[in-house]
Amino acid sequence: MRPALTVALLSALALAAAACGRSGSPPAKGPSKSLLPSYQVRHGFRLPDSPTWRRARARGHLVVGVKEDQPYLGERNPADGTFSGFDIEIAKMMSASLGFPPAGIRYTTIASANRETALQNGQVDYYVGTYTINALRRRQVGFAGPYYIAGQGLLVRKDETGIHSPHDLDGRKVCSAAGSTPYQRIRADYPRAILVSYDTYSVCVDNLLTFQVDAVTTDDAILLGYVAKAPGELKVTGRPFSKEPYGIGVPRDDTAFRLALDDALSRQEKNGDWRKAYRATLGLSGVPAPKPPPIDRYRTS
Ligand code: GLU
Repeated sequence: MRPALTVALLSALALAAAACGRSGSPPAKGPSKSLLPSYQVRHGFRLPDSPTWRRARARGHLVVGVKEDQPYLGERNPADGTFSGFDIEIAKMMSASLGFPPAGIRYTTIASANRETALQNGQVDYYVGTYTINALRRRQVGFAGPYYIAGQGLLVRKDETGIHSPHDLDGRKVCSAAGSTPYQRIRADYPRAILVSYDTYSVCVDNLLTFQVDAVTTDDAILLGYVAKAPGELKVTGRPFSKEPYGIGVPRDDTAFRLALDDALSRQEKNGDWRKAYRATLGLSGVPAPKPPPIDRYRTS
């Protein structure tokens, strides 16, 4: 099924749930525009040591890789093509710090499996889309941050009673995105699960709603967004079973760019922008704003 249809299916379900007025269901709200901060653009900012920044400057805009089907994190509104969510706010904070106004960002949707290549071949200047920092990926790309810590979880249909942890996946069908850390973890640690993969999680969720798989696995932050869209049919089960520190992907050798984004994150965590952005987006899924994790200004050899 194509992503557009997927989003349509989820919206239809959300509407159906709202129309039925099920009690206890959170409203499937979008990010709350009135709460969103606007970020101070650093006019006159220069970063001549960064090839990525110089290229963007010459081009006149930044190209940022994101997700388009992850509610509260990175979601594209099919009606007007605008993007919203916590990752999008992080992308805007970074662009303001690099001297570009919000209108100076071109978003491009990149699936989990294609992120490293997109950064390596210059298709995007940076990437903000639930991107876990790990040693393997750090050999291919750089990471500013982390700016948030998620954990792997399980999404099931509301009437499912047999799945509470990844151990219960033996002989059951579980879906995740190709090239993701949750996919890898199931493959390595729970080999008796029947693992199915697609490019995106929204296709997995369609498969769950149509009884083709028994569970969807990825970060809890992502799963909660799908529950909010279809609270009458879906639930997150059990506890998170990994740590997924989210980083901003950058070209591996552009240390000046990576450290500029680390500085920007620290500043925006201190001045309250990070918290306001969280509250207006991911916070709507019901989890109060955590303390942002310490930033790792690592050295490369
Ligand atoms: N954070 C995990 C990862 O980077 C899962 C979410 C995703 O696929 O974007 O692989």
